[in-house]
Amino acid sequence: MAILEILKFPDARLRKKGVAIKKVTPELQTLAADMLETMYSFRGIGLAAAQVDKQVRLIVLDTRPRENGRYKPEQMTELEAAAVQPLIIFNPVIVKKEGKTTYDEGCLSVPTYFETVERFNWIEFSGLNLQGAPFTLQTDGLLAICIQHEIDHLDGKLFIDRLSPVKSMRLKSKIKKFGYPDPSHPDSEEELDAESEREEHRL
Ligand SMILES: [Zn+2]
Repeated sequence: MAILEILKFPDARLRKKGVAIKKVTPELQTLAADMLETMYSFRGIGLAAAQVDKQVRLIVLDTRPRENGRYKPEQMTELEAAAVQPLIIFNPVIVKKEGKTTYDEGCLSVPTYFETVERFNWIEFSGLNLQGAPFTLQTDGLLAICIQHEIDHLDGKLFIDRLSPVKSMRLKSKIKKFGYPDPSHPDSEEELDAESEREEHRL
């Protein structure tokens, strides 16, 4: 197992599209395990292969509440709680979607920024599991939001592309100009608090 480097916006490699896999090989199983380890080490709840510079359609997720997280077990929906996590999904495809919801999304590839994004509230998706067996799952809540966010990564899309054009442009210019704040040198106690409250929400 290994902790992989996570690409950060505006790295052009984040814009590459992932290719559907034909077969789950031992190499891809290792990649999935490394991605999970990487995701946990950065306290993320989802990670897409595109974020670690692999152009394959693979996402890993674990939205279960963790110790000290703001997200509590009672905040999980029934469908979300029923899903066996962590989830490793090759070739994920959303086959049905319903309703709308919004959430303050963050991303390991756009660290320290959180913005409200609209997503489908309920989805049915299909894909292949770690053993290469096809499966289908219906879910909602944070898990459904996270899956939509991760599938976007496989298409070269980031959550900051889903903001209003003006907001999106401003945020991107700001990051390109100033980079990301150094987490080891928070500007104020207040920022540190805000950051720790949100640590479970990086998708
Ligand atoms: Zn992300």
